[in-house]
Amino acid sequence: MSTATADRTGPSASIPPTPQPSEPPSRSALVVSRTITGILVGGPVVAIGAAVLLWSGHGVEVRTLVLALAFYVVTAFGVTVGFHRLFTHRSFTANRPLRIALAVAGSMAVEGAPIGWVANHRRHHVYSDRPGDPHSPHGFGADVRGQLLGLFHAHCGWLFTPDTTPTRRFAPDLLRDRDLVTVNRLFPLLAVVSLVAPFGLGWLLSGTLAGALSALVWAGVLRMAALHHVTWSVNSLCHAFGKRPFTTKDRSTNLAALAVVSLGDSWHNFHHAHPDAARHGVLRHQIDPSAALIRIFERSGCATNVRWYERDRSGRLAIPA
Ligand SMILES: [Zn+2]
Ligand SMILES: [Zn+2]
Repeated sequence: MSTATADRTGPSASIPPTPQPSEPPSRSALVVSRTITGILVGGPVVAIGAAVLLWSGHGVEVRTLVLALAFYVVTAFGVTVGFHRLFTHRSFTANRPLRIALAVAGSMAVEGAPIGWVANHRRHHVYSDRPGDPHSPHGFGADVRGQLLGLFHAHCGWLFTPDTTPTRRFAPDLLRDRDLVTVNRLFPLLAVVSLVAPFGLGWLLSGTLAGALSALVWAGVLRMAALHHVTWSVNSLCHAFGKRPFTTKDRSTNLAALAVVSLGDSWHNFHHAHPDAARHGVLRHQIDPSAALIRIFERSGCATNVRWYERDRSGRLAIPA
């Protein structure tokens, strides 16, 4: 049996000094990035208000909700299977079309371009809940105010701080991947497509501008915001609430309430114990749709070298040799 506990958080995973940016961001760059983040965080709140006003008493068409669900599932798998389990932790090997498809789908979640996303997440695993972690909810004080401040920082407050994660240190492998670099460059376009596509499909399906606008709001803006808050909740809630059946050096937790909407990524305590595992929900009754999709990719021949953990004779989780 192989112990197979190697932490695939990236080539520099075991180097602890806190990373320094090669060049601090200029003031104008910081203003631009904070403005975009502010629109992404606050915009959906305005959209919810508009949705309530526009559709109160009318209801929402079933086809619009189906469209929203479809966009949610595709972009969420892009993040959980693509950005997270494939690109960050190399839980499996994907053929070229699948790599590109997952990079595009994850980019359309508009959580940042793939290479920066991966670099920040690898950094999170290296410094988890210690100085250097970009989004730990801990270290803001033990009183209620400090805990709330920490949760806000881990959820979305950290997005407003200057990005100091050097991609050359945390994601050199992806910087050498031409396809990933191309998708990375196309991120602003893909973010626009993520909103324009629901609008266009809504128009096609309904044949009306009202139908197109409804699809833009529900399958575009609100779908995007819902996934943002689910991903951010894994960063905040899954380091504060829930169960810790596995021993880790951080305070990561398994949070069953988020398992379905996070497509299995809220089994975060096991994930921190074995970051390279393709399946995060390894205990009985733990639903993990992302692992199920990886299994489908494996059976279809698109994915190979999948790191499936199983229990050995002593009951310990390991990857069979
Ligand atoms: Zn974590
Ligand atoms: Zn991870």
